[in-house]
Amino acid sequence: MKRIVLVLGDQLTPTLSSLRAADRSNDVVLMAEVATETTYIRHHRKKIALVLAAMRHFAAELREAGWHVDYVTLRDPANSGSLCGEVRRACARHGAVHVLATEPGEWRLMRDMAQWPSTTLLPDDRFVADRHGFATWAEKRTGMRMEHFYRLMRRKTGLLMEGNQPAGGRWNFDHDNRNPAPGPLGLPQPLRFEPDAITREVLEMVAACFPDHFGDLTPFWFAVTRAGAEAAFVHFLRHGLHDFGCYQDAMLSGHRFLCHSVVSAYLNLGLLDPLAMCCAVEIEWRAGRVPLNSAEGFIRQVIGWREFVRGVYWWRGPDYAHSNELDAHRPLPAFYWSADTPMHCVRACVTQTREEAYAHHIQRLMVTGNFALLAGINPHALHEWYLAVYADAFEWVELPNTIGMSQFADGGLLASKPYVASGAYIHRMSDYCAACSYDVKAKEGPKACPFNLLYWHFIARHAGLLRGNPRMAQMVRTWERFTPEKQARLTRDAGHFLASLG
Ligand code: FAD
Ligand code: SF4
Repeated sequence: MKRIVLVLGDQLTPTLSSLRAADRSNDVVLMAEVATETTYIRHHRKKIALVLAAMRHFAAELREAGWHVDYVTLRDPANSGSLCGEVRRACARHGAVHVLATEPGEWRLMRDMAQWPSTTLLPDDRFVADRHGFATWAEKRTGMRMEHFYRLMRRKTGLLMEGNQPAGGRWNFDHDNRNPAPGPLGLPQPLRFEPDAITREVLEMVAACFPDHFGDLTPFWFAVTRAGAEAAFVHFLRHGLHDFGCYQDAMLSGHRFLCHSVVSAYLNLGLLDPLAMCCAVEIEWRAGRVPLNSAEGFIRQVIGWREFVRGVYWWRGPDYAHSNELDAHRPLPAFYWSADTPMHCVRACVTQTREEAYAHHIQRLMVTGNFALLAGINPHALHEWYLAVYADAFEWVELPNTIGMSQFADGGLLASKPYVASGAYIHRMSDYCAACSYDVKAKEGPKACPFNLLYWHFIARHAGLLRGNPRMAQMVRTWERFTPEKQARLTRDAGHFLASLG
């Protein structure tokens, strides 16, 4: 009996569990562009184009490999607009009664698909850790930290190991990875790709169907095939990896990518394999072409953070999305969409996000995320923003980064302290402040950098909670040592600024 093998937009991997379980000579692969997926969040237009163009190229790749692929386009007049509707229609077209699929990457779809009749959901095994194993590990721990999990992953994969010990005698070289950027000269650029006919057709469709979604559609230069994604990664190995470590936390107005790999979207779509990437990075280090702090830094992000946040996402369940431990309720300011703010750092990051559907980690964590946390923005509203605006944003990876790492909304389950910083941090790690109408050195008054004002406002608001955090208690004591007059001035200036947010 023929089966329908549903392949989702972020499952573009030839060795996907559902494809492995299917019969190429008999079953039909269904891929469908549906309105519910493109609009349940108002995704960046570049992100929609990337996913749909990559899906169409993957369908062609599967056909070439001998699969019977039934592909439903967004503008097909018969398109029902939902995955469930398309599966039902495909079953009728092909006389199939059974559906095979790999588990989706978010609770919303997981709960939906679990209700479909005659559907087998197979584990998504494109990760180093399996989600049930993670949950068992996490349940046994009292203090759950990424670093412990990361060491487990190093041992499991053997990456950067010398016998039972970490290469170089240390597990983590993060302390070597905090240099400000040297200036844009000599920094690499990610590999860019000219859209082919398939991609151009998608771009035209996205322009027509999503005219009022956020984000610039063109220039569009993402890779949309496995071969392209692999070329982009090899380009990073040759040109970016060497200095990836030391400039990992730096930010520059004139250089949006620094030494970052810009491969997260490819990885999350399934065009790249995380373990193969890490092995290639290790080879570069063993061949003496890149330093250990860069190789370890990169591998930690992929087998450490990426796997860890996925584990947390599934372990904590669907309610994790509504965590709000700091009781933050301020609406998301309009400048997260318009970039219309005198704060140069925020303006630069939002402008770049609008143009590229990309910002690197420190821009997300220490500029837009830091501002939201300091200002008490509602974490769920911020989560919806991050999910919409980045090409690599899929809920399993975006949500824990936002709710846990960036907003401390889970009360410290994922991060050991709130990632808050005053303007001094942004000044040290970037060149943003030189072109800002605020004064990063001013702590009070109308010219004072808002990050400075809000920093103390945050410490004062949450002193009760932060006093018990060994990494924050010192800042609470500093606040308490300020004279009442100084505290009152800071509170007043921060209050004026917050009121100006509307
Ligand atoms: P590089 O800096 O070159 O890092 C290499 C790879 O490591 C990345 O491609 C990515 O796959 C992985 N990685 C690095 N940090 C993380 C992390 N914290 N969590 C998971 N993987 C990581 N990443 C996403 O892939 N999708 C998201 O939706 C997403 N949302 C985020 C939201 C917030 C608030 C924050 C603080 C971080 C978020 N991240 C997200 C993590 C990180 O910012 C991006 O993975 C990274 O910026 C992607 O750029 P890159 O490929 O150049 O990464
Ligand atoms: Fe950002 Fe403050 Fe620097 Fe302006 S002065 S760029 S607001 S950190």
